[in-house]
Amino acid sequence: MERVECVVVGAGVVGLAIARRLARAGHEVIVLEAADAIGTGTSSRNSEVIHAGIYYPTGSLRARLCVAGRDALYQYCAEHGVEHRRLGKLIVATEDSQLARLDAIRAQAAANGVTDLYAIDAATAREWEPNLRTVGALVSPSTGIVDSHGLMLALLGDAEDSGAMLALLSPLERAHRETDGFVLEVGGAEPMRLGCATLVNAAGLGAWAVAIGLEGFPAGDLPPRVLAKGNYYALGQGRSPFSRLVYPVPVDGGLGVHLTLDLAGQARFGPDVEWLADADAPVDYAVDPARADAFYDSVRAYWPGLPDGALVPAYSGVRPKLSGPGQPQRDFLLQGPETHGIPGLVNLFGIESPGLTSCLAIADAVAGRLDR
Ligand SMILES: Cc1cc2nc3c(=O)[nH]c(=O)nc-3n(C[C@H](O)[C@H](O)[C@H](O)COP(=O)(O)OP(=O)(O)OC[C@H]3O[C@@H](n4cnc5c(N)ncnc54)[C@H](O)[C@@H]3O)c2cc1C
Repeated sequence: MERVECVVVGAGVVGLAIARRLARAGHEVIVLEAADAIGTGTSSRNSEVIHAGIYYPTGSLRARLCVAGRDALYQYCAEHGVEHRRLGKLIVATEDSQLARLDAIRAQAAANGVTDLYAIDAATAREWEPNLRTVGALVSPSTGIVDSHGLMLALLGDAEDSGAMLALLSPLERAHRETDGFVLEVGGAEPMRLGCATLVNAAGLGAWAVAIGLEGFPAGDLPPRVLAKGNYYALGQGRSPFSRLVYPVPVDGGLGVHLTLDLAGQARFGPDVEWLADADAPVDYAVDPARADAFYDSVRAYWPGLPDGALVPAYSGVRPKLSGPGQPQRDFLLQGPETHGIPGLVNLFGIESPGLTSCLAIADAVAGRLDR
């Protein structure tokens, strides 16, 4: 049986950032990925927004890792030639009753260390974005967009330069503990057993199955698994009506149907929040054209010029959540030996947004858990 020092399960943006971090610290690392390519999960099914860190509860991992991760990500992208753009975002009130929400959002952001937000009045907002309907807006200058696939390729390249290896088509099926680590049963075309001292479970939607497959993992430490699909619609024709990201004030479970832009300048609307009743069923990423009906009202609140029939289904992603509709949002869960008592194991659960923005900071936090 082959042995390595560290195994990272999952080659999404988070697993790759962790592999890079550990390899650069001198550890021997193998990344196991079930699919035939990197980043085919949630990491390629999101808005590709570099979030500023505005909304999350102060002191939460999401707040802290987003702010730290955002700065690290801008620097990383600049140094590694990963395409990105600091477009800025507008959070728009469309009714006077929402103006107080903008004040609350600004205060929350400041408490999180995001101190660059400022308010603009409706006239200024329309001068900047003539198609916008608003009674007042907040500007977030440090929000941007990134080429998530370019980012993942850069992280993989860095990790490999430091000696890490990637094994595609290599799903981790089961694991058990030994005195000095773990024995992993890896499936796929060429099943194998692999020994390791350190196991990082960054399997995204598959993180629960990985933990359940680890013999002796305490059932009481397995968090609830709640899935919320986010559907996106693109404009069938025509240019984007806006040059910045446009967000309404947030709704339960998500940030509201917002407009983001990709690096080619194409507009997309979404994601919405579609709670999946059966979290154990295989994920169906098809976008139901009928759900667009609800988008028209939401989008027209800030873009009255949206033509009938303009929205076409684009793609979807699924948020691995730890709490359901109407419940308080749960934080990222980075679960190390101090929680489950298993030396050398870190599980990552509930890495929904802003996981892309935070990936480098999450990697630092995981390395810290393992060093402890
Ligand atoms: C709709 C939506 C919009 C979002 N928008 C943003 C945004 O704009 N900005 C932002 O910062 N964040 C955003 N996020 C969050 C961000 O996309 C995720 O936090 C991030 O991509 C998670 O990366 P990951 O590596 O943890 O998971 P994934 O990308 O899902 O990677 C997990 C990998 O593990 C593999 N795997 C699973 N099981 C196994 C196994 N047993 N063995 C081997 N491999 C396995 C999978 O194949 C997959 O490749 C969004 C998320 C969603 C759903």
